[in-house]
Amino acid sequence: MLSVHQLNVYYGSVKALWDVSLRVDDGEIVVVLGANGAGKSTLVKTILGLIEPHSGMIKFAGRRIEGLDPHRVSELGIAYGPEGGGVFRDMSVRENLEMGAYHRRAWERREQTLERVFRMFPRLDERQRALCRTLSGGERQMLVIGRALMALPTFCVFDEPSIGLSPVLVDEAFDVIRRLREEGITTLLIEQNVTKSLKVADRAYVLENGRVVGEGTGEELLDDELVGRAYLGL
Ligand code: ATP
Repeated sequence: MLSVHQLNVYYGSVKALWDVSLRVDDGEIVVVLGANGAGKSTLVKTILGLIEPHSGMIKFAGRRIEGLDPHRVSELGIAYGPEGGGVFRDMSVRENLEMGAYHRRAWERREQTLERVFRMFPRLDERQRALCRTLSGGERQMLVIGRALMALPTFCVFDEPSIGLSPVLVDEAFDVIRRLREEGITTLLIEQNVTKSLKVADRAYVLENGRVVGEGTGEELLDDELVGRAYLGL
């Protein structure tokens, strides 16, 4: 569904991604792991069209998308849930959700999609008129995922959805991502919660200093020495 082929990205003269290749097949949950500065955000921003790569190819559903305008990328069916939420604190839950439906097809169907999101997250339904600044961390994370769904994506990119959540809420966030897979949504997940994200992942990649240094199924990487050393303190 998504394939990234030998992607090279620079910030001025600083090289951030070196020949990065990866793929996400239809219906998969794929995790990208990496320490701070490994290049995870750069990878995500390049996929979303926010950064133009120096070289390499990104294909989504058979067409090349590298360097495409972010708005076009969204219309093609790729939605983004940013790290830390990026929600508007002084707007209500419902208003924030509606802002996710910003391209025409999504806007026309926003009432049906809102119902779907509220079915998925009854808590957001209960709190739809509440201002976002009054939400708990877990509620805000549901909102980030719900808002991504408002754009009618077939493919979601979530940046650290578990950050700042209590262990119970982390489990809930990963549970939601599993449910999205059941609804046919493919997910690329950027995570630092190695153990839990690898349990939900079909496959995963390890990024280090802008390079892919490991890949495998979630289970394989959980047993992998490199991952253990780098992230689990083994
Ligand atoms: P984090 O988890 O801390 O966000 P990351 O894995 O997402 O880390 P990136 O933010 O993609 O890493 O950064 C990759 C490299 O690119 C780092 O060395 C970083 O210093 C550098 N970098 C990121 N943004 C810029 C920028 N705007 N200008 C120059 N260098 C940058």
